[in-house]
Amino acid sequence: MALRTLESLGSLAGKPVVVRCDLNVPLKDGVITDDGRIRASLTTLHALLEQGARVTVISHLGRPDGKPEAKYSLRPVADRLGELLGRPVRFDGRAPADTSPELGEGEVLLLENLRFDPRETSKDAAQREEYARELARFGEAFVSDGFGVVHRKQASVYELANALPSAAGRLVAAELEVLDRLTENPEKPYAVVLGGSKVSDKLGVIDHLLPRVDSLLIGGGMLFTFLAAQGHPVGKSLLEQDQLDTVRGYLGRAEELGVQLVLPTDVVVAEKFAADAANEVAPVDGIESTRFGADGIGLDIGPDTAARFAEIVAGSRTVFWNGPMGVFEFPEFAAGTRAVADALTKVGGLSVVGGGDSAAAVRALGFSDDRFGHISTGGGASLEFLEGKSLPGLEVLGWQP
Ligand code: ADP
Ligand code: MG
Repeated sequence: MALRTLESLGSLAGKPVVVRCDLNVPLKDGVITDDGRIRASLTTLHALLEQGARVTVISHLGRPDGKPEAKYSLRPVADRLGELLGRPVRFDGRAPADTSPELGEGEVLLLENLRFDPRETSKDAAQREEYARELARFGEAFVSDGFGVVHRKQASVYELANALPSAAGRLVAAELEVLDRLTENPEKPYAVVLGGSKVSDKLGVIDHLLPRVDSLLIGGGMLFTFLAAQGHPVGKSLLEQDQLDTVRGYLGRAEELGVQLVLPTDVVVAEKFAADAANEVAPVDGIESTRFGADGIGLDIGPDTAARFAEIVAGSRTVFWNGPMGVFEFPEFAAGTRAVADALTKVGGLSVVGGGDSAAAVRALGFSDDRFGHISTGGGASLEFLEGKSLPGLEVLGWQP
């Protein structure tokens, strides 16, 4: 893969280094509700600080409209980063372009939200290059460690990597190594479990991974489009009418490739889309035969299906899971997601959770991160990688698909 790693930058002792992190944490009323992304950035920052590098950290937060907005300030992140690093983090709250690159002994500098400047995400390459040159004032080398943004051609991800000697940080390198193991010679048996809301979000992943896997398990909202493609009535469940032909294509291709495409045999049918909705388990050909009739809506895989999925997952050597099996946000419909998460913790080889909601689901259900081989920090980036797409933020660091 030939990604340039930190070592390729040579000795960084005493040198100013700019590090792009993804510190885009969820905030509620100015308080960080999950500091996972800040923690994930520490390995690289420690490695640089131990070498004596003078570190300036840059990141975006949320989607401000190219101008300062108090609710998207990185100030709370600066405080938390300082606590976690155990050293002072300087933050002056001015636009990155107006901040002075001065750094006190032992200090780390965090610049304000990169997206307070419209050039960060500009479609105009010249604008992005100009912004990248301003950011390059903060270092003699650039470390790209925001895995959640490597699929974006943005100033602090792409142009900055060209403006300075650059390399991937530890987090990006680790993410890539794991994703690479899911596409190049994965250990067999290899199972991929897909759920979530829409088939249309996952077409690329199915296309790219179908020829590589032994089994593809389908749950979540997308399962109903598969059932409908087989002629089952699905009541008011999520259905993408315009994907029926595509899905029929997958059923045929799986058969040609000898891939086991595993669809649910039972589902949990609810009276309406609500946490407290009355519900019952039905076989997949009986979704409209419950007491809710044609109004029934499928909100989770059923217990037989969950048990079968768990058995296949736990018996595989490589498993990638993306997309909750049901509407896990409602505890009544979280059992399928919990069963699959639990089975993932029993995988003997490599188990990977990808996708923003899937990662949130395993944490919300009380599974600690270390029970999985890997939980990707970048939902969009990991899915695009698994679609076989070229990721600009990685290619600029020497990586080739
Ligand atoms: P990820 O972010 O992990 O890629 P998605 O964004 O594709 O996952 O999907 C997550 C959403 O899918 C969750 O909010 C969940 O409630 C929803 N979902 C799962 N099963 C169903 C279902 N049967 N009907 C409607 N929505 C569902
Ligand atoms: Mg999502």
